[in-house]
Amino acid sequence: MPIRQDDNRPTRRFGLINLLLIGFGVLLLVSNFLPNPANQVPRVPYSLFIDQVNDDNVQRAYITSDQIRYELKEVQTEGAPTVLATTPIFDMDLPQRLEQHGVEFAAAPPQKPNIFSTILSWVVPPLIFIVVLQFFARRSGMGGAQGALSFTKSKAKVYVPDEESRVTFNDVAGVDEAKAELTEIVDFLKKPERYAAIGARIPKGVLLIGPPGTGKTLLSKAVAGEAGVPFFIISGSEFVELFVGAGAARVRDLFEEAKKKAPCIIFIDELDAIGKSRSGSMGVVGGNDEREQTLNQLLTEMDGFSGQEKPVIVLAATNQPETLDAALLRPGRFDRQVLVDRPDLSGRRTILEIYAKKVKLTDGVDLDLIAQATAGFAGADLANLVNEAALLAARVNRTAVEQGDLNEAIERVVAGLEKKSRVLQPDEKKVVAYHEVGHAIVGHLMPGGSKVAKISIVPRGMSALGYTLQLPTEERFLNSKDDLQGQIATLLGGRSAEEVVFGEVTTGAANDLQRATDIAEQMVGTFGMSETLGPLAYDKQGGGRFLGGPSNPRRVVSDATAQAIDREVRGLVDRAHERALAILRHNRGLLETISQEILDKEVIEGEDLKVLLAQSVLPEEAVVVS
Ligand code: ADP
Ligand code: MG
Ligand code: ZN
Repeated sequence: MPIRQDDNRPTRRFGLINLLLIGFGVLLLVSNFLPNPANQVPRVPYSLFIDQVNDDNVQRAYITSDQIRYELKEVQTEGAPTVLATTPIFDMDLPQRLEQHGVEFAAAPPQKPNIFSTILSWVVPPLIFIVVLQFFARRSGMGGAQGALSFTKSKAKVYVPDEESRVTFNDVAGVDEAKAELTEIVDFLKKPERYAAIGARIPKGVLLIGPPGTGKTLLSKAVAGEAGVPFFIISGSEFVELFVGAGAARVRDLFEEAKKKAPCIIFIDELDAIGKSRSGSMGVVGGNDEREQTLNQLLTEMDGFSGQEKPVIVLAATNQPETLDAALLRPGRFDRQVLVDRPDLSGRRTILEIYAKKVKLTDGVDLDLIAQATAGFAGADLANLVNEAALLAARVNRTAVEQGDLNEAIERVVAGLEKKSRVLQPDEKKVVAYHEVGHAIVGHLMPGGSKVAKISIVPRGMSALGYTLQLPTEERFLNSKDDLQGQIATLLGGRSAEEVVFGEVTTGAANDLQRATDIAEQMVGTFGMSETLGPLAYDKQGGGRFLGGPSNPRRVVSDATAQAIDREVRGLVDRAHERALAILRHNRGLLETISQEILDKEVIEGEDLKVLLAQSVLPEEAVVVS
């Protein structure tokens, strides 16, 4: 295992100790060069000394190997004899000369080494060594007595759930789909034999994806609590450390420990810290070896424990799934992905109930109102909200939380959140509602194998303010020109609704327009669907259309053709836009009804949605497709 210093990180870590050591070294050096106070005697040239001896002016001299100190006979000032020093040169005649001139002289005994500096030179280096050792021992956590140099040990904390502190699914609310998926995992952990007997492979990795504070950590604790198994928790960033190789060693150690305690759960928080796509970070100079080694080790370990009787299930959490290395998502690794999203209205209501039980509420408090006012809040924000309200009540010496406290707490939490994530203002919410319903109505009336399954105006994930979910009714591999035109119209439905209702447009449609334009370009350039331009592929082959990669480079074409392509693309989008506008004007009443309903409920899906959308009708002129 190569151990070398990673040059980015140690500066901060080493800070204090480095400073101490350097300071100490400088002190030693300086003390060497500082003139010894006992030696502070005026220095004179050797020739002057000889002259003074010859003049019989010297009373006595002390000669050492590096200096001659002598006292003059003439007493110049206040009775103290003048003492001078000079540096000896190789002069065999000196004793003779001194004797001739009656100088008392003596050689000093060989200088005794300074006891202090001797001690220093013997004691300091080992001391430095010990300090460094202790530094590492401390860094590597609760190593205790045996902990010196244990920095390759994993720093995972283990929780063995006991009856009181046990977290169960009852403590988590508003994320029902995730709970349903994870219930299965609990079953794997409880009765692995049942699955082994039939020859089924128990999944090894489950990836929880969702914005911060939605309860990913809580959910995985609940899985451990429900199954009654030990729970190892470690953050991805804790693997990435000072030394290259330490992260990999820690992963190895963690899995070693976990296997001993199987069945159990390993929870890796912030998986993205080690699992970033390797290809994506090629441009970065240095510093990636460590993460890559750690990631490789993790993959190896996950592949390794398949033959186990008792399962070790790795749960991991991330809020940046798009940055993860594809290798992590392959079967046998994190092949299950569970979306843990911000709760909707009823979810928020249930979460509020959980936390309201922990504080004293006055009778009149209406949690429904609070749930309605907190669209976009994650579970952690709601927990925080109830606590803030309790703090407010306690500050003014009330014994129970009132509605007003909760309302004030909302404002506080929102103020904090507005910096971090998006909370929609009421007027924005209205725009988002009409926008999404616009998508839904146009999408419902367009041909093609998909139906609108859900409309939501709860801000989701990192980018969307709301969304309309279209599910394919059948698996399709081919799309007709008609289907694609329908898709463009559906994408433009959101913006068109804003135009019809508000007479102006917002920035919310940027992504829709991007996708609509992409489809139109492909229709002309890749699928040869333009009548004027004919069945030619103007785009070069390659590029991942479905991977969201950049669109294909264009073949070399004449200026005239390039202009014609642009015109065709523009025409396709324009016609789809007209179509969407026509549909929405024709169904203006329905647009209003559904939008009002979604402003109340935030999410409409299933049978309710089906009934509503069934009322939509195609305007005659929209049937005529150019
Ligand atoms: P994440 O790991 O997704 O960032 P956490 O699980 O750490 O979020 O959530 C932090 C805290 O917020 C939890 O300890 C819990 O008190 C509260 N919380 C978050 N989501 C929920 C939820 N769905 N139900 C109940 N409490 C929640
Ligand atoms: Mg967490
Ligand atoms: Zn949209």
